[in-house]
Amino acid sequence: MLKIGLTGGIGCGKSTVAELFAAKGIPILDADVIARELVEPNQPAFEAIKQHFGAAILKDGCLDRVRLREIVFFDPEEKRWLETLLHPLVYSEINRRLAILSAPYCILVVPLLLETGRRHLVDRLLVVDCPEDLQRQRVELRDGLSQPEIEKIMSSQLSRSERLAAADDVLENIGDKVSLSDQVEQLHQFYLALSRH
Ligand code: ADP
Repeated sequence: MLKIGLTGGIGCGKSTVAELFAAKGIPILDADVIARELVEPNQPAFEAIKQHFGAAILKDGCLDRVRLREIVFFDPEEKRWLETLLHPLVYSEINRRLAILSAPYCILVVPLLLETGRRHLVDRLLVVDCPEDLQRQRVELRDGLSQPEIEKIMSSQLSRSERLAAADDVLENIGDKVSLSDQVEQLHQFYLALSRH
């Protein structure tokens, strides 16, 4: 099965684009969604995180993800620890799900695909792109983060030009959602054609 990696900086529009492909019946595997499932009680990462951070990281028996995000936001060592735990689990879960999928092609939404050196997982790389100012505006509106918080996240990701240099296909998400949807339809036809070869 043809595997398309969907990546892009925070706020560029990955989730919005993934929804448009999903509406066409294309299976979506989203690394962030899988990571959230892996930290639910009784899931593989839950016990390890509880052991490492102690009971203070729990809220009503579940992982307090807001608290965890705060800790790793300010502590690079803890961030590395968490990533070392989660990344291999996320990628092996993606592979497990891929093995049982049947479709002409699928989309893997992996925000840090390039940053984590996993380009080889996919056949083509689709980058959702927009100017950085638009990224900042969208994230502020969606997440209510301050500009310094947004800058910190953006600076931990590849730059726009580095992502574009690695792209096979680019979705310019600078217009309205109708124009985005038209571009997705074109790519959908292109990927269907590729999957037939
Ligand atoms: P990502 O998954 O890359 O972080 P999202 O798809 O969540 O980005 O998009 C960020 C925010 O911007 C969301 O609130 C989304 O609804 C909005 N958005 C994305 N693309 C457009 C667009 N073309 N027009 C208007 N709003 C958009």
